[in-house]
Amino acid sequence: MNYIDTHCHLDGEEFAEDREAVVQRAREAGCSHIFLPAIDAASCKTVLDVCSQYPSYCYPMLGLHPEEVKAGWREQLAWIRGRFSDSSPQAAVISRTVPMIQPIAIGEIGLDYYWSREFEQEQLEAFEEQVKWAVELQLPLMIHCRKAQNELAAILKRYAKDLPGGVFHCFTGNEQEARQLLEFDRFVLGIGGVLTFKKSHLPEVLPACVPLERIVLETDAPYMAPVPQRGQRNESAFIRHVITRLAEAYGVTEEVICQQTTSTVKRVFRI
Ligand SMILES: [Zn+2]
Repeated sequence: MNYIDTHCHLDGEEFAEDREAVVQRAREAGCSHIFLPAIDAASCKTVLDVCSQYPSYCYPMLGLHPEEVKAGWREQLAWIRGRFSDSSPQAAVISRTVPMIQPIAIGEIGLDYYWSREFEQEQLEAFEEQVKWAVELQLPLMIHCRKAQNELAAILKRYAKDLPGGVFHCFTGNEQEARQLLEFDRFVLGIGGVLTFKKSHLPEVLPACVPLERIVLETDAPYMAPVPQRGQRNESAFIRHVITRLAEAYGVTEEVICQQTTSTVKRVFRI
């Protein structure tokens, strides 16, 4: 039984001591690939670095996270944009001399008004700019959204017909919120540890209005560890508990969950 972890901060310092063992446990648990999102320019470097250590296993996604949109965000964006190869002759020469790992998506990007609205306007601008990259580069989006779904949907709507697709990561909303996001028909919901939490309404919400083919699996490690590891450092091997809970909720086998989510990931990320 194989699955893909579409969102794991494996480059984080939480994994500095034992990253190799974490990857080994992921492989043993059946995790066939891990996607790593960046959050700012510095983490683009660490994400690319870890991905270069695990070629064809770890894949990078580059972008500026909404909580990192603060002083200097325009410079950060410009630098990050430069990490996506272009088709110019100069770029071709560079990539022949220094083989570059190509990012598979733009992320994680989005809007987050949970803690503060101080950079509300800047967040909107930074998000829209990166949505334009997705259109230009035809890369999927890894989207983070907290307390800002209407604002986020309004921007996406303007580009929806030209966007190749993406993931609304760490979905924890209600039926109405799920329906609003699923209107973006090339987009899917990222489901992780929250599904297993005692008070989560996701086991009812998801089967009621989200077709299984619109779901992908994620950890958001080191955060969001599922029950029974809740509160611990999360890792890709722990997705097994999410698979079990999702299979119960949809009344299908774990095998079906793995097969369906993996084929959805391949469709959205074209890997
Ligand atoms: Zn994340």
